[in-house]
Amino acid sequence: MDAEAFHCDVLITGGGPVGAALALALRGCGLEVRLVEPQERRIDGLRPIALSHGSRLILERLGATALKTATPISTVHVSQSGGFGRTLITQADMQVPALGYVIDLSVLAADLKARVAPEHVVGRVVRRETDRHAAVVTLDNGTRLRARLLVLADGGQSMGDEWALRDYGQSAIVGLVRCEAAQTGTAWERFTPDGPLALLPFDDRYALVWTVKRTDAPALLALDESSFLRRLESHFGSRLGRFVEVSDRASVPLLLRYRTNPIAAARTIVVGNAAQTLHPVAGQGLNLGLRDAMDLAKLLRATPRERLGEAEMLAAYRTRRGLDRHATIGLTDTLIRVFSNDDGALRWARGAALAALDLIPPARRFFARRMIYGARALP
Ligand SMILES: Cc1cc2nc3c(=O)[nH]c(=O)nc-3n(C[C@H](O)[C@H](O)[C@H](O)COP(=O)(O)OP(=O)(O)OC[C@H]3O[C@@H](n4cnc5c(N)ncnc54)[C@H](O)[C@@H]3O)c2cc1C
Repeated sequence: MDAEAFHCDVLITGGGPVGAALALALRGCGLEVRLVEPQERRIDGLRPIALSHGSRLILERLGATALKTATPISTVHVSQSGGFGRTLITQADMQVPALGYVIDLSVLAADLKARVAPEHVVGRVVRRETDRHAAVVTLDNGTRLRARLLVLADGGQSMGDEWALRDYGQSAIVGLVRCEAAQTGTAWERFTPDGPLALLPFDDRYALVWTVKRTDAPALLALDESSFLRRLESHFGSRLGRFVEVSDRASVPLLLRYRTNPIAAARTIVVGNAAQTLHPVAGQGLNLGLRDAMDLAKLLRATPRERLGEAEMLAAYRTRRGLDRHATIGLTDTLIRVFSNDDGALRWARGAALAALDLIPPARRFFARRMIYGARALP
């Protein structure tokens, strides 16, 4: 391949939160690392997301400070509409300072991107080639970079044909809402026949992630503010009093897409949304992506330079991430399929499961630990 391309050990394509976290986690380990990201990241407006306590520990270790301005979650309230059963998970029960934190994704991404300036190569990947010896990418400005190991962290732009896809036929209506009786620090997840409705505390408002049938989304977006708020109230119930204000709303189609194998080609590993794009139920996507980055960094630190990108190393990554990836993908998929319907028997079973979680602390703590740290108790 091209002998004139710039050579490095690890080349990361995509400087979103997962790619940037990986670059930061590799600082100081003696490897030559480069990260390719266009100058301007496309921002789709405000996107508050919930990061777990486990992700907070990861981000702190990487030196990120953005979470200092995030809204802490002290309690998660889970319930279903039209049926009995609810469970409460509290920070005191889990003995952590907060179960999680709600932050605007672009604030976190900007913090991490600023920190990876030394590794940042400005550009967009337009072509990649790999063989047994190296991976070479070409950028839109003609620059060519050659690496022992290529890590795709581009959010899923580099599709191959190894994707598994489940289209739930749902969209999320997202926006910020204000209500009369806000409860500081409580996040709400309410399962309805159309899908889950989440309200995440975000400063003095709530970030709304309302799953609806995709065919219903345009009509909901077209409602005037007052009609929209009344529809939301009838869906969520009266626990937070009346909803009194909603910001600009948008809809996002919801799918599950994942690579059955995170090894995309010779010398190529895929992480974050590029490896798995999840339904936002239970807010797991970025939490899982950060664990991809940290596990990969740990493996690279323990691998001799000349072995980077070799088949044995790629296989070790696949094995290492198998349990956490598949358990998290399976959990979100099961929640959507079991909870997004109006079947009477399933409604009863859901109620029984929620009540059991509430009444049996060890079961609740086991579930909450999985949400906070993933299937492998990281970090
Ligand atoms: C409605 C909704 C709510 C969500 N809520 C939560 C939540 O509460 N908690 C949670 O953990 N997750 C949540 N998620 C998921 C979370 O947003 C994603 O998992 C996360 O943003 C993925 O980060 P990433 O770095 O893998 O990808 P991205 O953020 O997509 O970053 C990819 C980067 O690659 C760059 N790129 C793309 N193509 C190229 C190229 N050719 N060359 C160079 N660079 C390129 C892009 O500019 C971008 O910066 C939610 C998602 C949705 C849709």
